[in-house]
Amino acid sequence: MLEQGDLTSVPVEWDKSDYLDPEKLDVELRRQYDVCSSCRLCFNLCPAFPNLFKHFDSDEVDHDPSKLSRAQVGEFVDLCYNCKLCFIKCPYTPPHKFLIDIPKVVMRARAVEADSKGVDLREQMLASPDKVGRLATIAGPVASFLNWAMREGLIESNPAIATNKYPEQARDRVLTNDELRALWQALPEGDFGDIVRILILTGQRAREISDLQWLSEINFDKGVIELPPQRTKNRRRHTIPMSGAVRAILQAREQDGAFVFGRSGSSGFSGWSRCKERLDEALGIPDWAVHDLRRTFATGAAEIGIQPHIIEAVLNHVSGHKGGVAGIYNRAAYETEKATALNRWAEHVAAIIEGRDSNVTPLRGAS
Ligand code: SF4
Ligand code: SF4
Repeated sequence: MLEQGDLTSVPVEWDKSDYLDPEKLDVELRRQYDVCSSCRLCFNLCPAFPNLFKHFDSDEVDHDPSKLSRAQVGEFVDLCYNCKLCFIKCPYTPPHKFLIDIPKVVMRARAVEADSKGVDLREQMLASPDKVGRLATIAGPVASFLNWAMREGLIESNPAIATNKYPEQARDRVLTNDELRALWQALPEGDFGDIVRILILTGQRAREISDLQWLSEINFDKGVIELPPQRTKNRRRHTIPMSGAVRAILQAREQDGAFVFGRSGSSGFSGWSRCKERLDEALGIPDWAVHDLRRTFATGAAEIGIQPHIIEAVLNHVSGHKGGVAGIYNRAAYETEKATALNRWAEHVAAIIEGRDSNVTPLRGAS
């Protein structure tokens, strides 16, 4: 079985007749970009990702990959230096059904370009020092790679030296209480509405909730959602205690297939772009993304006094209190604390939605 980071196990299908087909490549690039836009784990790895997410978040594209222009699709390929870090980090690489392999599809794009025009990557990079500078000033590993390439004599100089810094554009959107209330009230009945409600109540990643499975992941007896390692970003089993509100949402659903959401029975929910588009038409909240709900949870939970290490545990972050050397010695899962935190957060969200004072903490934002 393919292990994460085992790059040599992913074959490049040079011999397939459609490997060099630009139209099929375009479809595949947009498919993988769509998954990345929902996930955003690789935001800080290199400039290719924040540039892509900026396009996804724009009014013109509005999270619909089919609305990316050809130029925008190509920008990602231009900005990728094929360092493969995103493949190493990605929880959705084969054999996961999302089949995400960014370095491989970028390599394919370069092959298609070379096939049609004949492109020398080295010449292209050396002719674009500012582009390389953007890579190097953001992504430490890329800067190291360029230094290594210079030492090895692969390039004569590091083209990133003395180039402009590219300002990082980290998203920091947190929904206000008014926005959270408006969003909750505008959510439709059905899969999408239930998924977003659970995201608001738990702060989990969108795909972790949209791909939930009844038998293996929902445990009403223990009152938890249990994500197996292959479904989490950090490949660690993750337990999410159910607040009463989350339990009520899940128990109200028909258990008529393997997956909690979605219609096919063989996979989870799809159709994010269409559903969010409809929601936004009814809602009118500016510039928000589904992933902002995770940040909204983290910020709101901190405001009601939940300790940072408990918030990290709920979010399944392996950083801060559980990162690095500390992480080796701190394997505490904080299950009780997580349950308490999620119950407090659910009560706080209920107060926001009902427009009453929260008995958990003062509300943030105007009411
Ligand atoms: S972890 Fe995978 S899906 Fe997520 S942004 Fe990175 S490459 Fe894309
Ligand atoms: S391979 Fe490296 S440079 Fe290319 S998208 Fe992934 S992290 Fe960015």
